[in-house]
Amino acid sequence: MLFAWLRTRRRRLLADPFPHWWTGHLTRNVAHFALLPEASRARVRDAARVIIAEKRWHGREGVFVTEEMKVTIAAQAALLLLGGDHGYFRPVKDVVVFPTEFRTPVRDDGWEDDRLSEVPLAGRAVDRGPVLLAWDEVLREGRDPAGGQNVVIHEFAHQLDFDEGLSADGPDLGDAALEARWRPAFASHFERHERDVAAGLGNPLFTPHAADDEYEFFANASESFYCRPALFRRRYPELYQLLAAYYRVDPAEWFGGGR
Ligand SMILES: [Zn+2]
Repeated sequence: MLFAWLRTRRRRLLADPFPHWWTGHLTRNVAHFALLPEASRARVRDAARVIIAEKRWHGREGVFVTEEMKVTIAAQAALLLLGGDHGYFRPVKDVVVFPTEFRTPVRDDGWEDDRLSEVPLAGRAVDRGPVLLAWDEVLREGRDPAGGQNVVIHEFAHQLDFDEGLSADGPDLGDAALEARWRPAFASHFERHERDVAAGLGNPLFTPHAADDEYEFFANASESFYCRPALFRRRYPELYQLLAAYYRVDPAEWFGGGR
């Protein structure tokens, strides 16, 4: 359900021209933007504006959240919304920006802040909670998708997963045959990756962290799908097809067959 006042507010927001200096941030900091067809660029601009306006933005550890940071983060998150708005990540009310890798309270410890995450993190997504991001990592990966990692895509993919039960039940794809394939396909590739990691085998598309659970596997798959689509399609044709049906995009086309 979408409230009428919210729809009106969004329409007014998008009726204003896109701030021209924001385009500079997009061009410099979001490498995907230049690769997209114009209709998709317009969609990224619109979705980014809604995300910027509707989330609360917080800086930590000395960060003052600038417009550049908001545009750079929101536009990368908007890549996940090219095929549908997904409620603009409705359960996410807050985005928290750290200057660099950070340690945070962990759920297993009841979010007590006397025990921080053991490993410093570049990003974190909390179910029905905030997205936390390290700005230096956001900028580096936004400017260069070649490494295949993108912390913004990763954390916001987690949020879609939490909200829509993708790893738990599978998505609504409007196609019963495809929907029936989602759970078995992700489960079997996850299990294979678990075995590979246990055996010490490397993988250019999935990190060892992706073997932690199926949520991590899905978030990592989304990153590789968006950042190294040609290789991902070759190595995991079925996952590529399912993610293309879910996100309703074909990123291999953007990169002209490369990556
Ligand atoms: Zn993760």
